[in-house]
Amino acid sequence: MPGNKAVAYQGPGNVELVDAGYPEFQLKEGPGVPPENVGRQLRHGAIVRPVATNICGSDQHMVRGRTTAPPGLILGHEITGEVAEIGPDVEVVKVGDLVSVPFNIACGRCRNCKVGDTHICERVNPLQAGAAYGYVDMGGWPGGQAEYVLVPYADWNLLVFPDREQALEKILDLAMLADIFPTGYHGCVTAGVTSGSTVYIAGAGPVGLAAAVSARFLGAAVVIVGDLNEQRLAQARGFGCETANVAEGDPKDLVEGILGVPEVDCAVDAVGFEARGHGSDAGAERPASVLNALMETTRAGGRLGIPGLYVTGDPGAGDEAAKQGSLSIRIGLGWAKAHAFFTGQCPVMRYHRRLMTAILNDRVRIADAVNATVLPLDEARRGYEEFDKGAARKYVLDPHGMIPA
Ligand code: NAD
Ligand code: ZN
Repeated sequence: MPGNKAVAYQGPGNVELVDAGYPEFQLKEGPGVPPENVGRQLRHGAIVRPVATNICGSDQHMVRGRTTAPPGLILGHEITGEVAEIGPDVEVVKVGDLVSVPFNIACGRCRNCKVGDTHICERVNPLQAGAAYGYVDMGGWPGGQAEYVLVPYADWNLLVFPDREQALEKILDLAMLADIFPTGYHGCVTAGVTSGSTVYIAGAGPVGLAAAVSARFLGAAVVIVGDLNEQRLAQARGFGCETANVAEGDPKDLVEGILGVPEVDCAVDAVGFEARGHGSDAGAERPASVLNALMETTRAGGRLGIPGLYVTGDPGAGDEAAKQGSLSIRIGLGWAKAHAFFTGQCPVMRYHRRLMTAILNDRVRIADAVNATVLPLDEARRGYEEFDKGAARKYVLDPHGMIPA
């Protein structure tokens, strides 16, 4: 039986390669696995050999010690791979298929899955609705920054690419279907982006850039991306976005400088709770700054897409309230402007097939926009370190050397 080299979180600022053991069709005891999930039978699962497995800003929240993730947790929820083995109850997916794995784990049987809300599946995580691979409080499912990973309910969860050769040619674009492309797209769809919209996207990390690509794809007239990282803003300008360096002022003033009016039609938060302040306050962490700025900068009646992550427990927060996830949000302003807020994980399955079809038909390019950068699994630590410093890159780990040069 092969081993299974995998990236483990080992405490703040520390990831290490460990042998996680070859997966079985059963969920075993391990870091963060709720007792109710131990011993769970996974005859409906598939063992996937990851071809591309990306590092995400969501992983960084854990690796920076800003969550309650336990040491030893195997990381990785952005998985694209080849089916290596199927369980006895799998009917559709075949060994050898190249597949995208939605980062949400869903059963396909519960009330929420049945209406397409696979991000809040009720049956895969005994602690709360919703689950993911390699993530704190998400059911204890081992992550896919590894040589092998088990995908439960394989027929339901996996998206099979129609042609293996073609998929390998476009693998870096397709690798973004597991999370950031659908997530950025969902941010825009929930914010109401359509033909002719003006859009402000906070954050030029991979999710913000994916949202910017999505806004343009949906026909937005003007897409303004805000960040304080100049390299990342340059990346956004590289595919036709306007940019706002929020270290130079408040988003609404910067938006006014570009549009002539201080408000946009639609706004997306692709930053989350580790947000910095704006203008002279940009040196400090201000967890509510993006949410408050989006309310100021979005027109009355507008909608706010909020894929940026907010947590229920943040051991590294600056004050007691924020340690419990309570932030100083100016809800009165949002109420006065009749804003609608859309939060939570992205239900990847709602979008991944159509975005795959767009990629395969050369309608959209996502890998270049996020500057996809391939590293072998052995160099995961370097990827985490550089990404943490704000590199304008999306790191893609290649555990088996299968990504064509
Ligand atoms: P990232 O950390 O690479 O990017 C965040 C960016 O926000 C950084 O470039 C940072 O400089 C910038 N920033 C900080 N304060 C800002 C401010 N006030 N205004 C504008 N920009 C500011 O992370 P990422 O990989 O792009 O992910 C972004 C967020 O999306 C994270 O919180 C991540 O956890 C979350 N996420 C959510 C989902 C979902 O399903 N909802 C999926 C994937 C990622
Ligand atoms: Zn992710």
